[in-house]
Amino acid sequence: MTHIAIIGSGPSGCYIADMLAKRVPGASLDIYERLPTPFGLVRAGVAPDHHQTKNITRQLDRILSRDNISFIGNVNIGVDISYQELKDHYHYIIFATGASIDKTLNVAGEHHRGVYGSGEFSRWYNSHPDNADLAPLLSENVAIIGNGNVALDILRILSKDRNELRKSDINPIALDTISNADIKNIYIIGRRGPEDTSFTPMELKEALSQENLAFHIDKAVIPAVIPEYIPTEKIVAAEKNIQLLQSMPSPIHVNNSTIHVHLLFNSSLREISSYNNNVTSIELAINSQPRNVSETTNTRLSLDVGTVISAIGYTTDLIESVPYDETKGTIAHQDSYVEIGVYAVGWCKRGANGVIPSNRADASALGKTIIAAWENTVPLLHKEGFSGISTLLEKRNVTYVSYDDWQRIDKAEVKRAEMGKLREKYTSVSKMLELLD
Ligand SMILES: Cc1cc2nc3c(=O)[nH]c(=O)nc-3n(C[C@H](O)[C@H](O)[C@H](O)COP(=O)(O)OP(=O)(O)OC[C@H]3O[C@@H](n4cnc5c(N)ncnc54)[C@H](O)[C@@H]3O)c2cc1C
Repeated sequence: MTHIAIIGSGPSGCYIADMLAKRVPGASLDIYERLPTPFGLVRAGVAPDHHQTKNITRQLDRILSRDNISFIGNVNIGVDISYQELKDHYHYIIFATGASIDKTLNVAGEHHRGVYGSGEFSRWYNSHPDNADLAPLLSENVAIIGNGNVALDILRILSKDRNELRKSDINPIALDTISNADIKNIYIIGRRGPEDTSFTPMELKEALSQENLAFHIDKAVIPAVIPEYIPTEKIVAAEKNIQLLQSMPSPIHVNNSTIHVHLLFNSSLREISSYNNNVTSIELAINSQPRNVSETTNTRLSLDVGTVISAIGYTTDLIESVPYDETKGTIAHQDSYVEIGVYAVGWCKRGANGVIPSNRADASALGKTIIAAWENTVPLLHKEGFSGISTLLEKRNVTYVSYDDWQRIDKAEVKRAEMGKLREKYTSVSKMLELLD
């Protein structure tokens, strides 16, 4: 039997498991997950109001239910089981651990109270046990740093109709905190121009059409034509985004509940100021040349904000002894290959970019590589797979969560949700484990 360990149960881990389960005869696939619950960022990153995207969990759940795939939750590789122990017990190891560490802003004041990374912030409203207790300070004026879809997710979650959000699986404490915050202005700040963002047109259009938002943009910064430095594969999206911004009407129907959204382009965050350790304002420098974000003009802009949320990307968490590329912030690899029998896939391989379907394509390419390696290998040495690992877990008093256990957690979350709400997630690992006793 070929024993394959996959570390991480997000889309990449599930997709590679699916492919290998179908194509490697006699393979036994064990998916290790550090949480008792599967699905990675689909459960804990994707915004709760994007139900259709969240529904991808159904597809991933079907993969986990396959006979030759085992979900082994609540096991943190590198902590509960070492990399070497995995190598001793498995023929192949595939890291699909994602990228969960918020990149730092690298400016003075970034550790003041009121500054949050979008990773921790989105885990907070998604009830992830690591950050469910974040209790962020939300002031009247909020700055979001970054021009990608995560910035737009955060904008929607901070501003969308409460009754609509209440039906989703959003963390109820987060929803109450946001509802009570009385946010008046949200600044979305990007280093580059409107032609050079990572917003996808669909998400931008969705935000621009939200009724309680009044958008403000200096239309003089929108170029009439797409500049040459925009990569070919980004031109269509850039054109659509520019059209959307160009045709954006000046705010009308403004009332007390309107939130003003200021899209500030060509602006680099320089400093975060505070009083008594609480954020009070930020200083922006205006960039001199499009794309040349390292050169700024003498123009400075100061904004009174009490909350700063950075949405500028993520790096992969280190796992002891696993090769790591410090420059890229990913597992070190050559076209997915880490070392003999060990591979990486998804965000821990490519870095934090690409939507969920990109991970399927990535998994499919890696699947072909592994199948070719497996077909050309002389009979494999005997290895024990999970039967050996389970002995180690028992010795270490680590309670692991099986697929059936996860099904029980899943049902309990749906059952305990109020009428009209999709599910009420557990925010604590110990609560989930108690449920299984
Ligand atoms: C805030 C946010 C919103 C997003 N919204 C969308 C969206 O609306 N649509 C879209 O298409 N894409 C969206 N994305 C992108 C999408 O979530 C990613 O493309 C995708 O989740 C990456 O999959 P992955 O499996 O590589 O990583 P992940 O989904 O992060 O999964 C990694 C898994 O590995 C586990 N893990 C990590 N370390 C260990 C360890 N040591 N031992 C055991 N397990 C471990 C983690 O707990 C996690 O479950 C969003 C991303 C973010 C950050």
